[in-house]
Amino acid sequence: MTKLIELVAPGVALLQPYLPGKPVEELEREHGLTNALKLASNENPHGPSPKSVVAMRDALDGVNYYPDGYLLTEKLAQRLGCDETCITLGNGSNDVLDMIARVFLTPQNNAVFSKHAFAVYPIATRAASAQPKVAPALTSDHPVAPYGHDLEAMRRAVDPQTRIVFIANPNNPTGTWLEMNAIKSFVNDLPGHVIAVLDLAYVEYIEHLPFDVGVEWLLDCPNLVITRTFSKIYGLAGARIGYSISSPEIADYLNRVRHPFNANSLAIVAAQAALDDDGFVAESRHDNSAGMLTWQRACGEMGIEYIPSKGNFITIDLAAPAMPVYESMLRQGVIVRPVANYGLPHHLRITIGRQQDNERAIAALKQALG
Ligand SMILES: *Cc1c(COP(=O)(O)O)cnc(C)c1O
Repeated sequence: MTKLIELVAPGVALLQPYLPGKPVEELEREHGLTNALKLASNENPHGPSPKSVVAMRDALDGVNYYPDGYLLTEKLAQRLGCDETCITLGNGSNDVLDMIARVFLTPQNNAVFSKHAFAVYPIATRAASAQPKVAPALTSDHPVAPYGHDLEAMRRAVDPQTRIVFIANPNNPTGTWLEMNAIKSFVNDLPGHVIAVLDLAYVEYIEHLPFDVGVEWLLDCPNLVITRTFSKIYGLAGARIGYSISSPEIADYLNRVRHPFNANSLAIVAAQAALDDDGFVAESRHDNSAGMLTWQRACGEMGIEYIPSKGNFITIDLAAPAMPVYESMLRQGVIVRPVANYGLPHHLRITIGRQQDNERAIAALKQALG
């Protein structure tokens, strides 16, 4: 009898599913706890913008109609200074990453990304039955971006079968950041048969960057796709909404594989309202910077090394297997993220919380370390 695994597409047979952070309700159920704290999935600890909540409430009565993303697309195009035909909405930016993989990858192709890069890149690549090609990362003693993307190594990994290079800036789970000029040179230097995907999921956390960062590069670089999300600083991770900015031609190809109505009507209005709440974004960025300092100081006091992060999370190096510390923190009701699946078995990734969350998690970490 034919084994089912022999019928599965080759990439799917090799695919390791995404491991989400543990949900609060699950921990509370398992350990009989209340008041668990989740700092495991880089969600905005301030919740969504109140303006998004009002917009979603107002839109509830219209959910009998299929969604229309036109107004959100128009608003994004205005804010980004690009044409509306450059924007593709996704059910989260992971949806757009998957569309890009389905458009450009076949079983004969590979996609290049760095070691310790975002877990969705190998998943999208395997789902298209193409080959992931992992470039070595910068070393742990690199002065600026330890464990971060080594652009020269990524360039060397590109071969004639490569169709996509994924770059996350800042990267998750390392939080490492490369200067945009270095990324620009890297992208401009790629051969014409390669699509550069620049994932800017955390870029809003970086101070003094214009909203339209990178968009002008599209003029010189027709093979560039930028992805952005409302899941992080905009506080809409559960609503599932993200987008890409690309040439109209690439957007046309993405649209061919896009599921109809992939972005839902509540997420669309929530995102529109979030774009109008600059105060919420500024406050989220400011509190994140303050919380990052709290964590850096606490790590300094405890003698714990960490990877310098520009995101809304900090990845700490326990210099020993991290699982016992993770589990001890769980028993204390604090959920953080083990990152062994990212090749970092001695590290834990911790989302920056509100000040009281940070204090509670730091106390739990101290307790766990005994
Ligand atoms: C969180 C994250 C995303 C966002 O995914 P969504 O599908 O938009 O929620 C994208 N890229 C990276 C690197 C991330 O960490």
